[in-house]
Amino acid sequence: MAKVKIVKNYIAGKWRDAERTGLLDVENPGTGEVIAKVPLSTESEVDHAVEAAALAFPQWSHTPVARRVSYLYALRNVLRDNEEKISQVLVSEMGKSLPDARVEMKRVFENIEVACGMPMLQQGNKVVGCSYDIDGEIIRAPLGVFGMIAPFNFPAMAPFWFIPYAIATGNTFITKPSELVPLTMELITEYIDQTGLPPGVFNLVNGDKTAASALVDNPKVSGISFVGKSETCRIIAQKCAAANKRYQAMGSAKNHLVVMPDYYQIDELIRNMSTSCYGCAGQRCMAASAIVVVGDDMYKTICEKFIDESKKVIVANPLDPKIADEPIVMGPVISAKAKKFICEMIETGVKEGATLALDGRDIKIPGCEKGHFVGPTVFTDVKPGMEIHKTEIFGPVVVILKAKNLDEAIEITNNHQYANGASIYTQNGYYARKFKLEVQCGMIGINVGIPAPVAYLPFGGMRNSMMCDIKMQGKAAISFFTQDKVITERYWEED
Ligand code: NAD
Repeated sequence: MAKVKIVKNYIAGKWRDAERTGLLDVENPGTGEVIAKVPLSTESEVDHAVEAAALAFPQWSHTPVARRVSYLYALRNVLRDNEEKISQVLVSEMGKSLPDARVEMKRVFENIEVACGMPMLQQGNKVVGCSYDIDGEIIRAPLGVFGMIAPFNFPAMAPFWFIPYAIATGNTFITKPSELVPLTMELITEYIDQTGLPPGVFNLVNGDKTAASALVDNPKVSGISFVGKSETCRIIAQKCAAANKRYQAMGSAKNHLVVMPDYYQIDELIRNMSTSCYGCAGQRCMAASAIVVVGDDMYKTICEKFIDESKKVIVANPLDPKIADEPIVMGPVISAKAKKFICEMIETGVKEGATLALDGRDIKIPGCEKGHFVGPTVFTDVKPGMEIHKTEIFGPVVVILKAKNLDEAIEITNNHQYANGASIYTQNGYYARKFKLEVQCGMIGINVGIPAPVAYLPFGGMRNSMMCDIKMQGKAAISFFTQDKVITERYWEED
């Protein structure tokens, strides 16, 4: 049997074997095959990376901003040239479809491109004449070393919500990928290395929560960007607040789609909802997983048509060449553990009295017997507060609820613990306006199934979906990675 490779760390501009306490298997979730091993880096390995980043900071922060972004232009070009290769690696370790991986790469490019505008975006402000002969000035200064702890579901995009902004503003950076999907960032780091970025400006350390905690606890780290489960967010947020560090903590989700009775383009609506619910096997933080239909007639129509559409979803190994370019293919969920949890939640839904209208538990994909597949699953007659409605299942399981009017649909959405995104389907301006004003979610869609903002707009939720003040992307990213220095200055005329 061929020996599988061990993923390396990248510290101070050099690839190195990690100081580690052990190795974890990296699996192709479609086939169950072990495709690599990821090191569980020690605290002292993380400390090496922090030292390298701290050493690089003084010179990097004094490098002109136009020069700093020149590395990002080069990175954008080399990643574009290798987009397909990166997408293939991403699919092999994460299991999303190739078209989904390519869309993820588009968001990587978009975030780099936005950060290339840093010579304009990082500009401060000046007031000439705050008082007699006194001027006031605001400088947006970098802070030092930042760390990022990534989730498994966007192996490329999630780190790139932060890396380009952090380094363009003059900070230095350490990324810790999810231990489930370390290969995409390892490959991307090879391209970062090719840009000639000075050593220590960007570092990559692999591992699990031990490495993540070491990054958070290191006193030389000025701030942490975290994306993952809300329970992990809370731990990170508490530690960072206690240590007076900056932090971003983006958590779990249960995104609601509200359908109003006036909506008439039903076929288009059903396709739109299906893409939102089943893309990436329901493992997107912006995936819809709860549909709330207003009115009896519309509820009946949506249940029937959505179940029919769910049966048509192609479930397959996303690397199977026969279906690789199909626009909507649902691959596996990330691991055996995730599949077990999803199946347990389906059992819970049955026990609590919802109707299991479509059951994806027994799906078999020929040739992929060891893959972690769950087929599209739909519950109807779901009541707010049932476990299958309260919990983020993070798989292809959709719950359909009925509301008597828009007020009740908004109440169901607003009473939920998670508040990342929510969308309404209506052509009625009054309903749409009421929804956007009254729904308490960070990202709102009108006739859009996945209201994920583009890179020049801020991205983040509310309530338990975001446990910090500053969002990712756009101007919010500049605020997070810089601190305002306010200067009041006066000079006397020389005699
Ligand atoms: P996770 O919380 O299990 O792991 C995320 C990262 O945290 C990993 O790198 C892991 O090693 C690390 N980690 C785990 N426990 C830790 C601890 N105690 N201390 C420090 N670090 C720890 O999340 P996941 O399962 O990889 O990702 C899926 C979750 O991410 C879902 O809940 C999804 O909704 C969420 N997510 C949210 C957004 C958003 O924008 N809000 C985006 C993507 C994913």
